[in-house]
Amino acid sequence: MKLLKTLFLLLFTLQIFIACGQTKNTTFTHEDTLRGSITPERIWWDLKYYELRVKVNPADKAISGSTKVFYEVLKPYQTIQIDLQPPLKIEKVTQDGKELSFKQDGANAYMISLKKDQIKGKNESIIVTYSGKPIVAKRPPWDGGFQWVKDKAGNDFVATSCQGLGSSAWWPCKDHMYDECDSMLVSITVPKNLMDVSNGRLRKVTENQDGTKTFDWFVKNPINNYGINVNVGNYVHFDEVYAGEKGKLSMDYYVLPENLDKAKEQFKQASMMMKAFEHWFGPYPFYEDGYKLVEVPYLGMEHQSSVTYGNKYQNGYLGRDLSGTGWGLKWDFIIIHESGHEWFANNITYKDMADMWIHESFTNYSENLYTEYYFGKEAGAAYVIGTRKGIRNDKPIIGAYSVNNSGSGDMYSKGGNMLHTIRQITNNDEKWRQILRGLNKTFYHQTVTTQQIEDYLSKNVGRDLSKVFDQYLRDSKIPVLEYSIEKNKIKYRWTNCIEGFDMPVKVAVDGGKMDFIYPSTSWKTMKGKSDLKVDENFYVTAKTM
Ligand SMILES: [Zn+2]
Repeated sequence: MKLLKTLFLLLFTLQIFIACGQTKNTTFTHEDTLRGSITPERIWWDLKYYELRVKVNPADKAISGSTKVFYEVLKPYQTIQIDLQPPLKIEKVTQDGKELSFKQDGANAYMISLKKDQIKGKNESIIVTYSGKPIVAKRPPWDGGFQWVKDKAGNDFVATSCQGLGSSAWWPCKDHMYDECDSMLVSITVPKNLMDVSNGRLRKVTENQDGTKTFDWFVKNPINNYGINVNVGNYVHFDEVYAGEKGKLSMDYYVLPENLDKAKEQFKQASMMMKAFEHWFGPYPFYEDGYKLVEVPYLGMEHQSSVTYGNKYQNGYLGRDLSGTGWGLKWDFIIIHESGHEWFANNITYKDMADMWIHESFTNYSENLYTEYYFGKEAGAAYVIGTRKGIRNDKPIIGAYSVNNSGSGDMYSKGGNMLHTIRQITNNDEKWRQILRGLNKTFYHQTVTTQQIEDYLSKNVGRDLSKVFDQYLRDSKIPVLEYSIEKNKIKYRWTNCIEGFDMPVKVAVDGGKMDFIYPSTSWKTMKGKSDLKVDENFYVTAKTM
């Protein structure tokens, strides 16, 4: 056992070393490895179900509660890793009523010793009891935790957000994305004048003797850690039933009373979103849990089946158009973008945060598809091309693996433009739509690696796109189509690119029709007299020599 552990640590040190080579100036710690890797204390058990019970006390910004973790033993092992971030503390862990001992490894990882023999194939559970004052969000949702504010009427208005940071910022859990629970109870107790809105459907409200109320929310589908959330406020509610691809879908809206009228108007875009995205991506992935849009004090987040909203009831991104074309002011960025994540983030979820492009590139691209659905193909294209102004090309989109690290923020608009470029290569709009729908069907409710998504796209587009992905996801350069025109001949090749870059691109020669050429990194020639124009839908640049 000890030797195994040493070997394992060595392996990870090596991995970190490699990871450091990829992303300069970043050093990772043992804690990053505990947080971001599938450790021996995680790999042996399969998470099945969580019963999360939390009492939220806004008066002293404290919480207390427990997580009951249900799991199946995949291979015998006697230590289980549960994560919880300080200042919160685990008080007690039990299995079958017997108290267990635990050791902390670093600040967040608790290594719990199990007394009972863990037998392959058996279903077991532990109860982890905890309390304290959770991390206060500094800049939610990017720098998350608990946010404690008051609404205009002086009522407490409380929300959690924890993407990246991890849900162990506010409850004890297996804080790694590769393993999702199959379903979950989120039971939240709040002062009785307030309401909690979490994920899934509200099953039960209990009035307690001590002046509190408990809201039991039940999630019937697999859910990722950061998708789970608590929203406490003096909410009012309205709803509608949407006739969708899979039947009737309940759409519920929770907002502060002073915003009810504005919300009734602005949230009309929620069903418009549903229509557009079911068209492009297939059925909403969580009919059983419904769809909710919940007002929060921060900008917003893709919490599964309870998308949170803080875009101030206006179109654009806090009133701004990220594309600079005007199309981004035709719709509410947070309703469209965060809901787009229901397909790419909540349905198809990355196993490792290094592959976060799977969430953000597709969802950025969904903004373009929403625009196209209501305003036409040219509008959608103009939008995605317009967002190129925000691309930095500073470092690769894919981050370092196994250390909870995400790559460049270019995973948004550059990733969206990569997908728009791959659509051009596909050159068949209906085929492309079926590929997007096929992704959501093939990887339905799954956690995935970038390789699975890349392979699916190559296979279904019908062309090996590995060099395209290597270029746009693993390198920061934008390929240049270099060409020269001499004596009725055009010489052309790819430069400023990875070795072997072989992406086809559409060009118009001498003012003719756009058509494919197949450049490589060596020179090729074609007929042409005076002019070459590259289709601007491809995210490349061109340079004449
Ligand atoms: Zn996003």
